[in-house]
Amino acid sequence: MTASEHSGRRPKGSAGWIYAGDLLGKNIGLIFTDRRGGASPPPFDSLNLAYHTGDEPDNVVRNRAEVAQTLGIPEKRFVYLDQVHGLHVVRAALPDGGSTGEAILAADGVFTTQRGVVLSVLTADCVPIAVGLPAAGIVAMLHAGWRGTVGNIAGCALHGMRMELGLDPGEIHVVMGPAIGPCCYEVDEGRARLFVERYGEKSKVVTGEDGRRLDLLRANLLNLIEAGVREENISGVGGCTCCDDRYYSFRRDGVTGRQGAFVFLQDGG
Ligand SMILES: [Zn+2]
Repeated sequence: MTASEHSGRRPKGSAGWIYAGDLLGKNIGLIFTDRRGGASPPPFDSLNLAYHTGDEPDNVVRNRAEVAQTLGIPEKRFVYLDQVHGLHVVRAALPDGGSTGEAILAADGVFTTQRGVVLSVLTADCVPIAVGLPAAGIVAMLHAGWRGTVGNIAGCALHGMRMELGLDPGEIHVVMGPAIGPCCYEVDEGRARLFVERYGEKSKVVTGEDGRRLDLLRANLLNLIEAGVREENISGVGGCTCCDDRYYSFRRDGVTGRQGAFVFLQDGG
């Protein structure tokens, strides 16, 4: 049985999306989309989910509707952030049956305790970080580019969620989605030095003969462990966005679209 035969309606090509909710826990949905299954023409082909890319807004509307239909959740229950490479993390709390309305302004992380509210980030090389705590009924989604990584958005988010919801980081599960790997992410000396100062020479966050290959996934892994998450509860899926042309990659293509990472608490748990 192929993935497309497995459940309901999916757009053409969406069988390649990564369904990874089981890595976060019971009754959590987690989906990483890729380029396939959408309406946008090159260079945004085809499932571009971001408006700021230069793509026709009508295409983005259609593509977002396609994702909502595929997941079987009304579009108005999707939360899209206005991502700014900052450390601000917000709580999504909607009225019963209400709408998320406009994008949440200037945030790079969002968490919720509400079932059926879909949290998202959009990326093209940056790391999408999904967090789940099924026993407590909490999910979160974070966006970590190099600024959010060295600034420790993961630590900020877990601290905020701990203060507001009293959660235990030792019980948290985390999945990091498709992102640029050290194979493709060469940075200038100044940025490399920032990461060596933050994580140390032996951390393997910065590698390569010239000491300028940056491993964002490893840096975020260290952030999460530092925040109290158990290493065995942290997974990575999807590989390198720049090596794999199924994904949008800003480093590889410049003008391009954005893939989505979506997490939600499912009914019934
Ligand atoms: Zn690569």
